[in-house]
Amino acid sequence: MHMPPPDAGVLARKSRIVERLLAVLPEDAVVHDEAETRAYECDALTAYRCPPLAAVLPRSTDEVAAVLRVCHEERVPVVPRGSGTSLAGGALPTADCVILGVARLNRVLETDYANRFIRVQSGRTNLSVTGAVEADGFFYAPDPSSQLACAIAGNIAMNSGGAHCLKYGVTTNNLLGVTLVLMDGTVVEIGGAHLDAGGLDLLGVICGSEGQLGVVTEATLRILPKPEGARPVLMGFASNEVAGACVSDIIRAGILPVAIEFMDRPCIRATEAFAKAGYPDCEALLIVEVEGSAAEIDDQLARIVEIARRHDPVELRESRSDEESRRIWLGRKSAFGAMGQINDYMCLDGTIPVTELPRVLRRIGELSAEAGLEVANVFHAGDGNMHPLILFDANRPGDLERCERLGAEILKLCVEVGGCLTGEHGVGVEKRDLMSVQFSPVDLEAQMRVKDVFDPRWLLNPAKVFPLEASGVRRAG
Ligand SMILES: Cc1cc2nc3c(=O)[nH]c(=O)nc-3n(C[C@H](O)[C@H](O)[C@H](O)COP(=O)(O)OP(=O)(O)OC[C@H]3O[C@@H](n4cnc5c(N)ncnc54)[C@H](O)[C@@H]3O)c2cc1C
Repeated sequence: MHMPPPDAGVLARKSRIVERLLAVLPEDAVVHDEAETRAYECDALTAYRCPPLAAVLPRSTDEVAAVLRVCHEERVPVVPRGSGTSLAGGALPTADCVILGVARLNRVLETDYANRFIRVQSGRTNLSVTGAVEADGFFYAPDPSSQLACAIAGNIAMNSGGAHCLKYGVTTNNLLGVTLVLMDGTVVEIGGAHLDAGGLDLLGVICGSEGQLGVVTEATLRILPKPEGARPVLMGFASNEVAGACVSDIIRAGILPVAIEFMDRPCIRATEAFAKAGYPDCEALLIVEVEGSAAEIDDQLARIVEIARRHDPVELRESRSDEESRRIWLGRKSAFGAMGQINDYMCLDGTIPVTELPRVLRRIGELSAEAGLEVANVFHAGDGNMHPLILFDANRPGDLERCERLGAEILKLCVEVGGCLTGEHGVGVEKRDLMSVQFSPVDLEAQMRVKDVFDPRWLLNPAKVFPLEASGVRRAG
């Protein structure tokens, strides 16, 4: 797309800001060439793009503080960025912003097995946190499917989850403390190295705040001893509704698997073609994993299989070996990549009460038929965190808009049945204007007042999370 050249005032402002950033950072940490800033123009919600004014890549908390002081004085918006894998446009720049990337803050600072925590710089990738402790028999539990790439910083900002969060909880349940730099450059410590640190529970406010309140530079994370063993069972069903009912029955029986993952036919087909994991050709598939000692695993699997049999499964395949377990998970783990090979897609993230799964899956099917756009479902069914993938063709005029309208209908449905707009991906720009479906003006106002306290000038990631209508006045002020 042809962009008009910026006017002289904008250029002069950019060059003053870049000069000031270069005064506090090494040259290789300031990206200001127009072509190079394009590397930061979007995150994983690629439908929206906008190159930033500049990007900075600090290496320490002090450097982050220095950058923020400059931007605060110059009144420049700042968008914090981890690895840019947000599916909600959380790290999407505005043309007048500085992207503050924490990728170079990637060191392990302390490991304490006796007290079961690890302290890392926030740009460290999720999987490499487990990588740092697994040889000693420990792991970090939250496991987003993007864990090879996404950073702890982004996980904290989005309160990310993953397949195994049914048992271990999401990021907020595994986060003990953070070092946070406020917009004016003040460095504060929140939480600590132990559960339930004293004072107000500000950690709960920071986790999930989507880069609105401060920039996280260090994090203390809870690590857990690796379980003795784990084993999945693969179950195929004749319809989405029956699979949904089976999930609901497993949870109702009081069994706590470590994961219950769901895939429907469009997703199974795409995944099989891509990963060849040996999945059955059926309408819906569940992967249920349990862990513990061999006896615990046998007992839990027996109860789960008994429940599944009541729903006439077309396939029941208990893993008997590590290789079989790997193959069962292979398809699920490559589902997003597989869908991306055949279509453009928008991935939603509504959460619903588990008992509503059959009804919501049926209604999604109806909405999809009405809109004339296919929807593939792959999600963390155990905690009701749905990921309908709406398939569309970005090159076909009007398809993106139809996709957005269908997405909004599905998310409204989630709220209607007692769920919420986002289980783990965050609000970002994607669901910003739907926030008023879930929250009353009074509730939104209360949340915006929290931002007023941390960031009175509304400079941190200001165009996200809150509906523009509600937040516009504050940002202008
Ligand atoms: C293929 C794929 C699979 C995915 N699977 C999952 C999944 O299973 N579960 C899940 O929860 N998510 C999933 N995601 C979404 C995404 O990976 C998560 O939201 C992740 O936590 C984002 O991390 P990031 O480092 O890439 O953050 P970014 O995309 O860079 O940023 C995300 C948000 O964090 C803020 N932020 C970044 N750094 C900081 C900081 N230092 N301080 C304050 N705020 C900051 C940004 O401003 C932005 O609002 C998936 C994404 C993809 C592409």
